[in-house]
Amino acid sequence: MTSFKSWQLSKVSGSRETAKQCKMTQDILKLRKLTKVFSNQVVALDSVNFSVKPGEFVAVIGLSGSGKSTLLKCINHVTSPTSGEILFRNQDLVQAQGETLLKIRKKIAMIFQGYNLISRHSVLNNTLMGSLSEISSLKSIFGLFTQTQISEATEFLRLVGIEEKMNVRASNLSGGQQQRVAIARALMQKPEILLADEPVASLDPKSADTVMRYLKFVNQKLSVTVVCNLHYLSLVREYGTRVIGLKEGRIVFDGRPDEISDGIFQNIYGESLPRVDFR
Ligand code: ADP
Ligand code: MG
Repeated sequence: MTSFKSWQLSKVSGSRETAKQCKMTQDILKLRKLTKVFSNQVVALDSVNFSVKPGEFVAVIGLSGSGKSTLLKCINHVTSPTSGEILFRNQDLVQAQGETLLKIRKKIAMIFQGYNLISRHSVLNNTLMGSLSEISSLKSIFGLFTQTQISEATEFLRLVGIEEKMNVRASNLSGGQQQRVAIARALMQKPEILLADEPVASLDPKSADTVMRYLKFVNQKLSVTVVCNLHYLSLVREYGTRVIGLKEGRIVFDGRPDEISDGIFQNIYGESLPRVDFR
C-alpha cells in the first residue's frame, strides 16, 4: 500500500529522477478511434481521438447527449466501448484483465454530479470506502480499516477543508460539502487521473466555485490529471488548461479555453445557448 506521505513524496522527488521525468512527459491517457454504439443504435462516441499529458486539467463541454458521460464511463471502465483503444500510460485499458486491470483502475478515480455517498454513513466512513480495493470485502463489512487508512482519510478530509465534519452523517452535509467528501474518497485511491462528471452541476455558484478550487488544488498541488465534464463556460475558462468540445459524439474543438471564439461556441452549442454566465 502506498501511504499518503510516500504518495506525495514521490511526486516531489519524481522531478529529480530521469526515468520518472520521462514518464511525466509521456501521455498519461490516449484514446484512439474510441467508438460507443448502444444497443438502441445510438452512436454516443464516434471515433474519438485525443491524448492527455500528465498535469492537464481537461474540461469537456458539449450539449446534453453529446457523449460526455459515456466518454468518462469508458475511461473508467464502467462502459465497454464498441471499438477503439484507451491507453493508460501505454497500457490498453479495454483489453486489460485481472491484476493489470485492477492496477490501472485504481489509478483512475471518478466523482459524479450526484456525489454517490452512502447517506447514512459518516463522512469518515464514506472517505474510507475509497480504499476498498486495498482490503478484503469481509474486513470492509466490519469496517476494519487500518490506522494508516484512517489517518490518510483524515488528512484528505483536512485537504478539502471538511475534517471537522468527519463524524457527521453524509446526509447532513450540503451538496458542496458532500462533493468535497467525494473528492477525499477519490484521493484514497492515490489516483493519477481524476474523472469528474459535471461535479458542480447541482450546486449553487458559491459552492460550485469552492469545489472547483479544490479540484484545481488536487490538479496543481497533488499533480493529479483531471478530466472534467462542465456545463458553464465561465468555469471552463477559469479552471481548464484545455477544452475538448463534443458534438454528437465527435470532437469539434480541442484547444485552449481562450481559443473558443463565438463561432466555435455556436458550433458546439448550436442555437440552444447553455448556461453561459454562471455568477
Ligand atoms: P452527455 O453526458 O453529454 O449528456 P451521454 O454520454 O449521457 O451524453 O449520452 C450520449 C448519447 O448516448 C445520448 O444520445 C444518450 O441518450 C445515449 N445513451 C447514453 N447512455 C445510454 C444507454 N445506456 N443506452 C442507450 N443510449 C444511451
Ligand atoms: Mg452526462
